[in-house]
Amino acid sequence: MAQLNSKIPAGPLAEKWTKYKDSLKLVNPANKKKLDIIVVGTGLSGASAASALGELGFNVKVFCFQDTPRRAHSVAAQGGINAAKNYQNDGDSVYRLFYDMIKGGDFRAREANVYRAAEVSNQVIDHYTALGVPFARDYGGTLINRSFGGVQVSRTFYAKGQTGQQCLIGVYSSLSRQINLGTVKMFPRREMLDLVLVGGKARGIITRNLLAGDLERHSAHAVVLATGGYGTIYYLSTLAVGSNASAAWKAHRKGAFFANPSLVQIHPTSVPQLNEFQSKLTLMSESLRNEGRIWVPKEKADKRHPNTIPEEERDYYLERRYPTYGNLVPRDVGSRAAKERCDAGYGVGKTGLAVYMDFRDAIKKQGKSAIESKYGNLFKMYQTITSINPYEEPMQIYPAGHYTMGGLWVDYNLMTTIPGLYAIGEANFSDHGANRLGASSLMQCTGDGYFILPYTITDYLADEIKTPRISTDLKEFEEAEKNAKARLEKLISINGTQTASTFHKRLGKIMWDYCGMVRNEAGLKKAAGLVSELKQEFWSDLKVPGRMDDINQDLEKAGRVADFFELADLMITDALNRTESCGAHFREESQTPDGEAQRDDSRFSYVAAWEFGGDGNPHVLHKEPLEFKEAEVKVRSYK
Ligand SMILES: Cc1cc2nc3c(=O)[nH]c(=O)nc-3n(C[C@H](O)[C@H](O)[C@H](O)COP(=O)(O)OP(=O)(O)OC[C@H]3O[C@@H](n4cnc5c(N)ncnc54)[C@H](O)[C@@H]3O)c2cc1C
Repeated sequence: MAQLNSKIPAGPLAEKWTKYKDSLKLVNPANKKKLDIIVVGTGLSGASAASALGELGFNVKVFCFQDTPRRAHSVAAQGGINAAKNYQNDGDSVYRLFYDMIKGGDFRAREANVYRAAEVSNQVIDHYTALGVPFARDYGGTLINRSFGGVQVSRTFYAKGQTGQQCLIGVYSSLSRQINLGTVKMFPRREMLDLVLVGGKARGIITRNLLAGDLERHSAHAVVLATGGYGTIYYLSTLAVGSNASAAWKAHRKGAFFANPSLVQIHPTSVPQLNEFQSKLTLMSESLRNEGRIWVPKEKADKRHPNTIPEEERDYYLERRYPTYGNLVPRDVGSRAAKERCDAGYGVGKTGLAVYMDFRDAIKKQGKSAIESKYGNLFKMYQTITSINPYEEPMQIYPAGHYTMGGLWVDYNLMTTIPGLYAIGEANFSDHGANRLGASSLMQCTGDGYFILPYTITDYLADEIKTPRISTDLKEFEEAEKNAKARLEKLISINGTQTASTFHKRLGKIMWDYCGMVRNEAGLKKAAGLVSELKQEFWSDLKVPGRMDDINQDLEKAGRVADFFELADLMITDALNRTESCGAHFREESQTPDGEAQRDDSRFSYVAAWEFGGDGNPHVLHKEPLEFKEAEVKVRSYK
């Protein structure tokens, strides 16, 4: 049985990373050329890792299921990216960013990893600026910042509401440079179907060529998963519809522990669901809460047009309940407060499942053009979707599934419990505890890829220089390919009546209702039964039209949904196990008299890392205790 060893270096928190880096082994340039690395994923984490490793001189093969790296989900990130530059001179520092993240995550993240993420944030911004990312600047040309939820400083760098897109273009340019130099080989339209282990180490992957349908074997001395988050398990979410858990899940089945799977962030400001036929929800960036005031009418079921409701009849409930942070409370707090108002009958819009985000006062104070220059593209997007002009009347918003703090367990080196298998970016669990603060994911993804993994993976590969290139003729590859093929054949052969999307939608509804924004024991137990029944129905009534040896998007989807069923079961198990509330995980049984999350540090100050127990067997729980030596553990309050 694998043992958990987080490998956190000794020494003072602020010096750990610097000292540790100096002690890591190096590989000389001639040997680097003999070492192969597979990177799966081309979002900010994967593309930055692949280009950094290529620049170092390793042979890198990088994979994505889209037709170009530029379509990775990271392109959708809107609001910004954090760094502790303190350009605003408002008291920011690496320590404060670290502390905000630890507190924002409700003291369920590892101190050493979070401190390191905050530390490299400044390198990330310098690097992006050098790559030409057009971050917003003031009239004098200096980079400017805005605020995000859960903090009292302005440390968020941004490019209008397209920060992810602009950063991805920067990362893509460095990736393209390496592709041109021949150090990185790009494999688009490939889906990783399985991980291959040889002698207990990660040595390769099996992929499906999504255009031709054939299966391929790829080998390497180490494998990096940068495959993003699994918030799409709810079907409706703010993520790209293609985002999925399959690569991480396949690694989990082969021995990589899955940490805190039930810790999922629900974002408070999504465009509400408009009809039953939607396949996704659209985010309205958190940055809008810098200017937008959130409110509902004081009267229940008030059907008046919002512009006709006078000031004294509006309940700015975040400003009322949380005077210190107001509309900039963290996402979990903002989401639950919106749900509470809607459940109590104050919701607005056709369904009553919406609250207002109002820019009237900001426009009055700053002028329409100032608001347009900061958020113009978001306002346009909102108007295109809803036909409501947000310059003239408030936006309607509601919480939606958004980001997964859970993911593959990794140690300080970002290595999973499988030797030679790394997980970076949203695919790992490491830095955000029970709730991620806004704009800290792009920061973590890029920090992992450009500034952390290149050091730690080199240390691992230093012991592999005598390992010859791995042959894909080994029996382990043959067997993994055979199993992947058999699974695809099984999915096609069911030949039932319901599509994978139908099952996904039904699964998503169960997860949203019982393992979403709020959870309780009875609901979670009910969900476990419903998921199990639906899973059986899936395997007996799924319809996958088309062939395996051809382009077949239904088959791709079916494989991903099949994995979601297994992950759903683990999420429910994890949520049942954690009887405390913490961050985004709100167990109704564990709340303060005024409805806030109540942690139970004496019993749950640990990372829950789950080991796959084999089909039909329960998962095995391993606990990584969390120690807080620098950050004072307190009740999290934003009042
Ligand atoms: C709407 C929205 C807005 C956001 N805005 C912000 C923001 O402003 N600031 C911020 O910090 N964070 C933001 N986030 C979060 C942030 O965008 C993500 O956490 C981050 O981009 C994830 O990057 P990644 O590199 O880990 O993965 P992704 O960008 O999701 O990339 C995953 C990659 O893995 C590949 N892949 C996955 N599975 C397979 C497989 N089986 N085989 C082959 N390839 C595979 C995909 O093709 C893709 O290339 C936002 C999230 C959403 C949903």
